Amino acid sequence: MYTAVDGARVPIRMWADPASVEDQAMRQLHNVANLPWVHGVAVMPDVHYGKGATVGSVIAMRDAVSPAAVGVDIGCGMSAVRTSLTAKDLPDDLGKLRRRIESAVPVGFGLHKTPVNPAKVHGVGGWDAFWKGFGELHSGVQELHDRAARQIGSLGGGNHFIEVCLEQGGADEGRVWLMLHSGSRNIGKELAERHMAVARKLPHNADLPDRDLAVFVAGTPEMAAYRRDLFWAQDYAARNRATMVALLKQAVRDELPQVTYGDAISCHHNYVAEETYDGVELLVTRKGAIRAGSGDLGIIPGSMGTGSYIVRGLGNDSSFQSASHGAGRRMSRTKAKKLFTADDLAAQTAGVECRKDSGVVDEIPAAYKDIDSVIRAQTDLVEVVAHLKQVVCVKG
Ligand code: 5GP
Ligand code: MN
Ligand code: MN
Repeated sequence: MYTAVDGARVPIRMWADPASVEDQAMRQLHNVANLPWVHGVAVMPDVHYGKGATVGSVIAMRDAVSPAAVGVDIGCGMSAVRTSLTAKDLPDDLGKLRRRIESAVPVGFGLHKTPVNPAKVHGVGGWDAFWKGFGELHSGVQELHDRAARQIGSLGGGNHFIEVCLEQGGADEGRVWLMLHSGSRNIGKELAERHMAVARKLPHNADLPDRDLAVFVAGTPEMAAYRRDLFWAQDYAARNRATMVALLKQAVRDELPQVTYGDAISCHHNYVAEETYDGVELLVTRKGAIRAGSGDLGIIPGSMGTGSYIVRGLGNDSSFQSASHGAGRRMSRTKAKKLFTADDLAAQTAGVECRKDSGVVDEIPAAYKDIDSVIRAQTDLVEVVAHLKQVVCVKG
């Protein structure tokens, strides 16, 4: 259940203890809820400070959208697939499986030498129309197009990851799942930043408490241009993840030829959707939140050493049919690097085949909130389908 936080033009519904939310995040929430175009704000239990607007929140607006609230990784999200394997099928040497995955999917700044052949990405069509759409929007920008094509099917860095997980408890104890976290790579960032710069200069944004909250409004050419790039980048992100799922499935099949797969689950957690509530058409921005409409399958990851959850939405309108996108950060990357060492990381990722060097100390499990508490705080938004724990984690 949520707590209503007053003091803004529209109520802020919060699935977290308001006392636990940092001051600067609370200020951001009030700034957002005071925007003239805002219809409602829902705050998820993984909420924390973010650029422009908090991560772990849902902003429903009428006839407006804030590009900084969507963020630079347009369409960032998760994909997961259940396999026919169980723990006993996995090799003792998980390092080999990890290396196979790392050679199938470029990570960090890596991209494909030549674009992945779309014929290899089963179940995803419409590639010609997709690229034509980009060409029509950005004709003559061949360099941008070529880079975007070679980044399809690549992971990126930071906390983007690929995991091999085992189901915990229940009738399907030990079931192997594959999951991954990535978005629209550099092309999404490039498009987002262009539009954010345009929005900041629009006269109707002159008096905002925070210039990062600059919005586009319906009926303007700037809004039309943003919407086209936004929805294209969301599609790009979904295709990027679908391509990686195909490459990942093949990599696991090369190691374990008997494997078969269920249908992939895919959910954005940084995106905009047009949805109607009580007859009002809204632009719903989920920035670090997933859609949790009735029956929707979603993925809520914890950290590189704790579990993750596959969930099913309950269709609760009070959160604009949304749920958290993860455990959420407990502290900044800078603070995590100050507080913890590579030895701490190794201790907190015991039993996980993953990087344990100082380069990923800012991703240490203790830098994130407790995923189980985050799940317990939203039992009116989602129900748990499967509780997973990783045995392999590849980070960019
Ligand atoms: P974000 O999209 O905000 O960058 O991160 C999404 C969420 O993923 C974080 O809030 C965190 O709970 C979770 N997370 C970060 N790194 C990992 C990881 O390596 N493995 C898993 N399972 N979850 C992670
Ligand atoms: Mn991302
Ligand atoms: Mn993300």
